[in-house]
Amino acid sequence: MNILTANSPTAELQARDAAHHMHPFTTNADLASKGARVITRAEGCWLTDSDGHRILDAMAGLWCVNVGYGRKELADAAARQMQELPYYNTFFQTTHVPALNLAAKLAELAPGDLNHVFFACSGSEANDTNLRLVRTYWQEKGQPERQVIISRWNGYHGSSVGSGSLGGMKGMHAQGGMPIPGIHHIDQPHWWAEGGDMTPEDFGLARAQELEKAILEIGQDKVAAFIAEPIQGAGGVIVPPETYWPEIQRIVDKYGILLIADEVICGFGRTGKWFGSQTLDIRPDIMTIAKGLSSGYQPIGGSIVSDEIAKVIDATEFNHGYTYSGHPVACAVALENLRILDEEGIVTRVRTETAPYLKEKFESLTDHPLVGEAKIVGMMGSLALTPNKETRAPFQAEAGTVGYITRERCFANNLIMRHVGDRMIISPPLVISRDEIDTLIDRARLSLDEAH
Ligand code: PLP
Repeated sequence: MNILTANSPTAELQARDAAHHMHPFTTNADLASKGARVITRAEGCWLTDSDGHRILDAMAGLWCVNVGYGRKELADAAARQMQELPYYNTFFQTTHVPALNLAAKLAELAPGDLNHVFFACSGSEANDTNLRLVRTYWQEKGQPERQVIISRWNGYHGSSVGSGSLGGMKGMHAQGGMPIPGIHHIDQPHWWAEGGDMTPEDFGLARAQELEKAILEIGQDKVAAFIAEPIQGAGGVIVPPETYWPEIQRIVDKYGILLIADEVICGFGRTGKWFGSQTLDIRPDIMTIAKGLSSGYQPIGGSIVSDEIAKVIDATEFNHGYTYSGHPVACAVALENLRILDEEGIVTRVRTETAPYLKEKFESLTDHPLVGEAKIVGMMGSLALTPNKETRAPFQAEAGTVGYITRERCFANNLIMRHVGDRMIISPPLVISRDEIDTLIDRARLSLDEAH
């Protein structure tokens, strides 16, 4: 077989892709008929495809390239580590320098007493870890009945059987035997779509109180944990009403339920602080991390857990781990990525400069006839598309593809935005400039005009 390169003809690259490559979350037969766009290189916030188009990436890949593309320091950190120690495990009484440093750095950055890190290679794996971790915690505490984990419909926690079960994506549950037993889903705080005539504040409270109802129904002594994203990402960037999280925190505190904040998207500056939990004033017992941890340059994730959980788990053998838990190259790259985020003041700049500018521009799109609301926290935002801004009606039937059409128009206009049903979402690299934000908004508006 000849190995194709980034300079090979697009048609040849697409044909080989269609013949052999099964894409995730894709109807591959449809994709094969039109051909996947082949991304060949990237710099800053810009992708280049095999036809030489430059595309503004307003999704930072999959919400992960926080420091932007093309950071040579990260490539150098990987190369150095590969030469010094390309692989070793941390299972059998050994450790290595990148893992111990990264764990300590994460303990320093994480809020409260979240001081201990269990590494994985992805957000899905980290949430699988959490599932077993919280159940084991209660078992070791002498409360083995506490096994149920409460999560939310339309939450996203990953794609493995465990993490997909924690998630509340019905389309995923319909395939392959999810959810597994012992997971209980409650409704999401999605006021725009589900709030009816209630005020956002009342609705936020009501949705939080569903947690209390579920705990009482299941039995307080049977509930192990509640897991949620501080701000739902893949569900459509759903910013909860302000009343929601304080009430959730009150309830988990009252019933002694562990709180898992899934920070896979919200972490590492995305909301303007290091973690979404800090922006939303949440006090989790465990945080799930991935994505922005390495800015996507290496696959790495993990669970940061409290002193109390670590004390209980460390007293037993936790029969869990991955060959690549704490992979030295991934850890070295993540450490360098955190240094860049920190020393270049990227997180602070997001909070004080970039996010306020993006918010102003993003919210200006609400004057478009298709846009009912613009919600944005830090560098993650969504537009609700609607045929009726007063009633907040969804698009129905064939018009329900308006989000899809807008997404396609963005793609044609060399802008990557995603759509989730009627919501158009963005999550750009944190280093996006004002000029690039202007370009993003201009292209989004043009695409909305074309979809209208
Ligand atoms: N948790 C959240 C909040 C996510 O958004 C994702 C992925 O988008 C995951 C977990 C799963 O992470 P991964 O795709 O790295 O397995």
